[in-house]
Amino acid sequence: MRQRIAVVGAGPGGLTFARVLHRLGHPVVVLERDRGPDARPPGGTLDLHEGLGQLALDKAGLLARFRAVSRPEGQALRILDPAGTVLRDWRPHPDERANPEIDRGQLRDLLLGPLDVRWGQQVTGVTPGDGAAVRFADGRQETFDLVVGADGAWSRVRPAVSPATPRYTGVTAVETSLDDVDAHHRDLAGLIGDGAAGVYGVNRAIVAQRTSGGHVKVYAQFRAPLDWHAGLDLTDVEATRRVLLALFDGWAQPVRDLLGRGAAFVHRPLHVLPVSHTWAHVQGVTLLGDAAHLMPPLGAGANLAMLDGAELAESVAADGGDLDTVVRAWEERMWARAARWAAITAAGLDRLVGPDPAAALALFDEVQPS
Ligand SMILES: Cc1cc2nc3c(=O)[nH]c(=O)nc-3n(C[C@H](O)[C@H](O)[C@H](O)COP(=O)(O)OP(=O)(O)OC[C@H]3O[C@@H](n4cnc5c(N)ncnc54)[C@H](O)[C@@H]3O)c2cc1C
Repeated sequence: MRQRIAVVGAGPGGLTFARVLHRLGHPVVVLERDRGPDARPPGGTLDLHEGLGQLALDKAGLLARFRAVSRPEGQALRILDPAGTVLRDWRPHPDERANPEIDRGQLRDLLLGPLDVRWGQQVTGVTPGDGAAVRFADGRQETFDLVVGADGAWSRVRPAVSPATPRYTGVTAVETSLDDVDAHHRDLAGLIGDGAAGVYGVNRAIVAQRTSGGHVKVYAQFRAPLDWHAGLDLTDVEATRRVLLALFDGWAQPVRDLLGRGAAFVHRPLHVLPVSHTWAHVQGVTLLGDAAHLMPPLGAGANLAMLDGAELAESVAADGGDLDTVVRAWEERMWARAARWAAITAAGLDRLVGPDPAAALALFDEVQPS
């Protein structure tokens, strides 16, 4: 008899898991708290790496379609100093395919395809066992042979396997966005280039990233206590802008304008799970993606979530024997990969938002092709 499998969360990790299982002919239930695919703005852009996110899409049979919609030109990267001087200006070769960018919404639509997601399903917890019981906010309960927690940083599945909770890194981010930059903010479009621009100062940075259609996401990143905004109403756009601009006092005007012209501000403090987060295997429940290994957002999280999902789906579908033995073996492989990336991204965050801007520049010199 086929195993009953559920995945909680229709993010990049959960959807890749479900899509690969679906491709391999195995039924899967996707439980997502959002009321529909367009219930909230999908967010910015993701760069998918050749050996990670792109490999996962290949396993899902979606690589060619990814290549058709992704933006290789989005791999362009400029590094500036707070005076506005361009220190580095990398432009990808036209056939460079190492890390093309894709909008989160485009990726979600690509992965959704024929999947039958159960929207509006708020999971409150899972009770493990021979038949793991998923509990819902409306009091219902449903039992599966395997429940995969792909429900992100604040996972409600995680407590079934691990007591770990995310810890604040000491770095916060405030996101804003600009629309139609090529028509309405041509000076800023020129500053950003075709992909992303990062400006690195002492313990703070401003990063601007193009998504498709002339949109730009801008992130102000700085070291601050978690309650840095006490007394500030973050929905008061002008008050928030004043506070942010004061943090970047003395920076060149075009760089400040990236914040100065933003429409609204969203607070995104950066949290992480421990670098080597593992757990004693629990029958019928596992985690993948941010739920298992939340790390600083330095271009790895969605890639890892997707490869976790693709590989777990392959393992489960190939299994002729005991589901828990298969999941346990996959967890060992997933933990080892995640720990390597968690260490890399933790060290990266220290250099990018740290006391020595030269360390940030050196980091880019190490990872960019010359
Ligand atoms: C600003 C920023 C930029 C980033 N850029 C990149 C990048 O370029 N490349 C990269 O690889 N990574 C990037 N990341 C990291 C990446 O976004 C995450 O690592 C990735 O989204 C994790 O995917 P996931 O599927 O594990 O979880 P998520 O994307 O968080 O998805 C979890 C899903 O679970 C649902 N859910 C949550 N709780 C419940 C519940 N109780 N019941 C039911 N459903 C629930 C949520 O609604 C959501 O749909 C970035 C992150 C940030 C913040």
